[in-house]
Amino acid sequence: MAKYKLEYIWLDGYEPVPNLRGKTQVKEFANFPTLEELPMWGFDGSSTRQAEGHNSDCMLKPVAVFPDSTKKNGALVMCEVMMPDGKTPHRTNARATIHDDPDAWFGFEQEYFLYKDGVPLGFPKGGGFPPPQGKYYTGVGYDAVGCIAREIVDTHLDLCLDAGINHEGINAEVAKGQWEFQIFGKGSRKAADQMWIARYILMRLCEKYGVDVNFHCKPLGPDVDWNGSGMHSNFSTKHMREVGGKSYFEALMNAFDKHKNEHIAVYGPDNHLRLTGLHETQSIDKFNYGIANRGASVRVPHSFVNNGYKGYLEDRRPNSQGDPYKIASRILQTIATVPTK
Ligand code: ADP
Ligand code: MN
Ligand code: MN
Ligand code: MN
Repeated sequence: MAKYKLEYIWLDGYEPVPNLRGKTQVKEFANFPTLEELPMWGFDGSSTRQAEGHNSDCMLKPVAVFPDSTKKNGALVMCEVMMPDGKTPHRTNARATIHDDPDAWFGFEQEYFLYKDGVPLGFPKGGGFPPPQGKYYTGVGYDAVGCIAREIVDTHLDLCLDAGINHEGINAEVAKGQWEFQIFGKGSRKAADQMWIARYILMRLCEKYGVDVNFHCKPLGPDVDWNGSGMHSNFSTKHMREVGGKSYFEALMNAFDKHKNEHIAVYGPDNHLRLTGLHETQSIDKFNYGIANRGASVRVPHSFVNNGYKGYLEDRRPNSQGDPYKIASRILQTIATVPTK
């Protein structure tokens, strides 16, 4: 038997975006615990905007477990927040709203800025700007990426791979101090669970560098020529991959158009600052799609058309602060309105 350090992680009740919370429970197991072996736990919901003070207990239900290679016998346990009965999902539990579909696949491209002393890494401390965007994207050298960012993003990648998170890649982004990683998962909740744990690992790693992860979609504001951050959401269902067809695709895009406001509502706050029609975006009040068009709301990969309108689509509107649970939930809800007969 060994004592395992189980970090129970959940999303709090803050609006418009939840924060990650975590606390450690020590328990003995013969081997690395399976999900079934992990008990439910409780927390004080009045401290996380999830309950009133007089009746403040909420429950944590483990839904995914990952090895934590930063610790001896460590585990990261993603949890859903439940009511005291342990069965009813809490109103803040967006994961519970995701239609369960093992054949729904999502790929999220998370962009973010690393910040130190209130400015992106590599920006002059006393104010002002570094040379304009151009050579930062996928760049190399101190001039392009500074000195600690590479260590942070490479360590983050290793820790995520150790945890079994299905990272597909990382890259330096268009703005100085801006980075991206991509996670892909099969199953309607898989990539979203892994995204929240990857965010947790990144934020925790950055603590020791005195660096903050800034997930805001336009941290430098709308008036300067610096890119914002998105979380492009690539998705496919079994029907899209195996049957597809032009008329199904067009019906799907009509449904996305019809529900565009409901989509925008869960695609992250302040998105009007980012979805302006500039910097490879469509404006927030419009919906369109385009083949290989990075200025569209939904980009249709060349491969999709070449395969007879089969494959995956990229919704480019979700932003870097969006909750992947809410995004996946909404996308599947809209897809479900389109007949597949
Ligand atoms: P780009 O930056 O050009 O948009 P990326 O390589 O960063 O391209 O992201 C493409 C994303 O599409 C990846 O996250 C990948 O996992 C995802 N993806 C690929 N195939 C599928 C599929 N069949 N269903 C859902 N997502 C997919
Ligand atoms: Mn990308
Ligand atoms: Mn990108
Ligand atoms: Mn993309």
